[in-house]
Amino acid sequence: MVRAIVGANWGDEGKGKITDMLAEDSDIIIRFQGGSNAGHTIINDYGKFALHLLPSGVFYNHTTSVIGNGVALNIPYLIKELESLTSRNVPMPKILVSDRAQILMPYHILLDAYEEERLGGKSFGSTKSGIAPFYSDKYAKIGFQVNELFDEEGLKDKVYSVVETKNVLIEHLYHKEKLDPEEIYQTLLEYRDMIKPFVCDTSVYLHQALKENKRILLEGQLGSLKDPDFGIYPMVTSSPTLASYGAIGAGIPGYEIKDVITVVKAYSSAVGAGEFVSEIFGEEADELRKRGGDGGEFGATTGRPRRMGWFDAVASRYGCRVQGATEVALTVLDVLGYLDELPVCIGYEIDGEVTRDFPTTHLLKKAKPVYTTLPGWKCDIRGITKYEDLPENCRKYIEFIEKELEVPITMVSNGPGRHEIIKRK
Ligand code: GDP
Repeated sequence: MVRAIVGANWGDEGKGKITDMLAEDSDIIIRFQGGSNAGHTIINDYGKFALHLLPSGVFYNHTTSVIGNGVALNIPYLIKELESLTSRNVPMPKILVSDRAQILMPYHILLDAYEEERLGGKSFGSTKSGIAPFYSDKYAKIGFQVNELFDEEGLKDKVYSVVETKNVLIEHLYHKEKLDPEEIYQTLLEYRDMIKPFVCDTSVYLHQALKENKRILLEGQLGSLKDPDFGIYPMVTSSPTLASYGAIGAGIPGYEIKDVITVVKAYSSAVGAGEFVSEIFGEEADELRKRGGDGGEFGATTGRPRRMGWFDAVASRYGCRVQGATEVALTVLDVLGYLDELPVCIGYEIDGEVTRDFPTTHLLKKAKPVYTTLPGWKCDIRGITKYEDLPENCRKYIEFIEKELEVPITMVSNGPGRHEIIKRK
């Protein structure tokens, strides 16, 4: 049985917490896309952790964590992240890395930074983790799969050939210091020794696990609106963020994904540039940012202040649809207890017409939010464990959102901790 946990919005919906919680009853947790460019914040008995590359199941003894072939594998980063856990008394997790995962090269990080610098004010607001150059190379067929590290001769030839093309850009477009292919080759040999204990054919492993009816979780990064096809292109990430891609990025059949738990945030937040129709500014935004998430809304990877907004039903319904959501986990609802009333964006006005359908980017740029307002509940809902015990106005807010999403809300998260969850069905 495979379940996917994915985001309906711009990321930072609280997927890490939901994954950490569901990992308790799972055997295998898989990362299937992205790299170290986004992070999950997890609070559990060991403390507070920001994970970037490791799946959120690493805190349990009984789970196996898989880095699938779809991931941008930053090897030294992964090793550092593992050390950051073990140095804080988390037992060494069981990690398997796909032999088909591609390696994030040192020059991907450099090229990401050089390109952002070149674009100046027109930049994508990249986290400079090398993700866009990495996926560009993967599809241009000049990337390096992990298994290539174990063929020294082939590796060396390929490094020299790829570096030659990279150096043309570095010298003539970016005017920076050229790469030394020998140095990169030696670095890759170091990477090989670091990653060797974890490498296997994870697709074979998962095939067997499926036969044995193991409980498998696919953990998505970012959200629907950052998907390269269905998101706010070009202000998107460079690998698919949708549950369906989980099959490819993990190496399992698509029909095995039976449940798509889509995480929806009770208000909106986004990091980086791009269209955001229900964005709010000034004091109103500062107040929500300060109260949001766990100790304020700042990016888990970059520390950047997140952009804030009211709940956007148009974007979230679309976000659920493109994920193929079977159920919704509504998160960070506790944060909204201070408001007298809660605006909810229920339509976009574009060229004088109101639509409920999320449009393509050039129309999105013209969209103005159409709001309705719901009454606030004016109290702290943390600690409540039963749905019926939530204040009436809070339940009304949830039920309003559920109707807008057209997907059942089965879980309501009312605090950052592992067990701060209200199950509905
Ligand atoms: P992810 O990338 O989707 O896992 O999201 P992040 O971890 O970047 O951001 C979610 C933030 O909200 C983290 O700081 C979580 O600890 C926090 N969080 C998650 N669920 C809740 C919740 O229900 N209430 C509150 N107050 N914080 C939450």
